[in-house]
Amino acid sequence: MATTPSGLPVPERVAVVGAGMVGLATAWFLQERGVEVTVIDREGVAAGSSWGNAGWLTPGIATPLPEPAVLKYGLRAVLSPNSPVYVPPSADPNFLKFVTGFTRKSTMKAWKRAMTQLVPINSMSLQSFDVLEQGGVAARSHEAKSFTAAYRTAQERETLLEEIEHIHAAGQPMEYSVLTGDEARAIEPALSEQIGAAIVLHGQRYVNPGEYVHALADSVADRGGKILSGATVRDIRDTGHGVVVTTAEGSVEEFDAAVVATGAWLGKLAREFGVKRVVQAGRGYSFSVSVEHLPNGPVYFPAARVACTPLEDRLRVAGMMEFRKPEAPLDGRRIEAIVEAARPLLTGADLDNRQDEWVGSRPCTTDGLALIGMTRSPRVFVAGGHGMWGITLGPATGRLLAEQMVTGTVPAALRPSTPRR
Ligand SMILES: Cc1cc2nc3c(=O)[nH]c(=O)nc-3n(C[C@H](O)[C@H](O)[C@H](O)COP(=O)(O)OP(=O)(O)OC[C@H]3O[C@@H](n4cnc5c(N)ncnc54)[C@H](O)[C@@H]3O)c2cc1C
Repeated sequence: MATTPSGLPVPERVAVVGAGMVGLATAWFLQERGVEVTVIDREGVAAGSSWGNAGWLTPGIATPLPEPAVLKYGLRAVLSPNSPVYVPPSADPNFLKFVTGFTRKSTMKAWKRAMTQLVPINSMSLQSFDVLEQGGVAARSHEAKSFTAAYRTAQERETLLEEIEHIHAAGQPMEYSVLTGDEARAIEPALSEQIGAAIVLHGQRYVNPGEYVHALADSVADRGGKILSGATVRDIRDTGHGVVVTTAEGSVEEFDAAVVATGAWLGKLAREFGVKRVVQAGRGYSFSVSVEHLPNGPVYFPAARVACTPLEDRLRVAGMMEFRKPEAPLDGRRIEAIVEAARPLLTGADLDNRQDEWVGSRPCTTDGLALIGMTRSPRVFVAGGHGMWGITLGPATGRLLAEQMVTGTVPAALRPSTPRR
């Protein structure tokens, strides 16, 4: 096998574990560099959090999750089970490690540092979608003609305006307009009379995430990649000249390298390769409803933490941050909490006739940065832990990781995300 200038093996056959946005984008960009890929998922394409999310491609507001305001929400959550962040009491040592680390990083200083580190990968986000679409992925990312953040009062709006100032200070461009409630309603009649202030964000996009990830999988397969569904990877072993990937269903196959892209389950396979950071499921819920006036783009109610996205002729409504095990069943009370938060803010939305009720797990890290790159084995890589932004940053992640795996050089945009930090 050829080696990179730094003496690392250049893989020719790679197993990617996880057929979500991150795994499939990595597989696609590896193919761009001539690598043969097999994508393995225990269920199938977009079976994890890449299906029912809000589908926003919003690098302009892709900020680190731990922030001073989260601490406030956390405290409120303990007091009120209906709040948008729910932290159930738990004695799980991994969860306690996560909460301690997350709390430590929820300072303005840590936020600013992580934000600055996110800017280089954020700035590649939309362009990486263009590469996919020009390269044969049949789905399209849509320009968000009016990406509206809506508030009851101008005072509530101050939080995002301040955050945008910090985002700008970190070097991240984000153009926006400030609107009154009436001006916002003139653009988006789905906003109720209770909306008194808004911000319209410019230059962002959105996708139908499930459809997009399936189109990405189709493109990987059309270009000769294998997609294995219903295969749970139980073990990855570095043999010194390749990796042996064993599934619970009994298949054993050798590859030159493996990429673990298993979302909220990343820790299970990555830990033994020196990846010590906890990836905690931050569970979110969504459903779709019919609306009288379908918005032209995503609508965000930041104070209620509710995210809405027009998908075909329906509105997907998403929200909640519930720190629980990713396998836990859907809890109908969380759906109700989103419904009651959204009801006064939307008009003409049939919130009592819901379809596609869904729960999925944002793969969250304590410092708000993803885990992307080589583990202590030069043949085992990880890509995940993007928290709220795995759809926005999936393609840029795959592009950068494929570059690293084939050239042996860590792209500058990936350095802060090293999985061994
Ligand atoms: C309510 C909600 C709204 C969101 N909105 C947005 C948004 O608007 N924009 C945005 O950018 N992000 C958003 N996100 C976050 C985004 O959904 C995630 O960051 C992203 O989907 C993570 O992708 P992934 O490929 O890393 O993981 P996943 O999509 O979860 O994929 C992991 C895959 O690994 C498989 N797997 C796990 N273990 C194994 C194993 N041992 N063997 C084989 N396969 C395995 C699973 O079956 C799964 O298919 C949202 C999330 C939620 C919950």
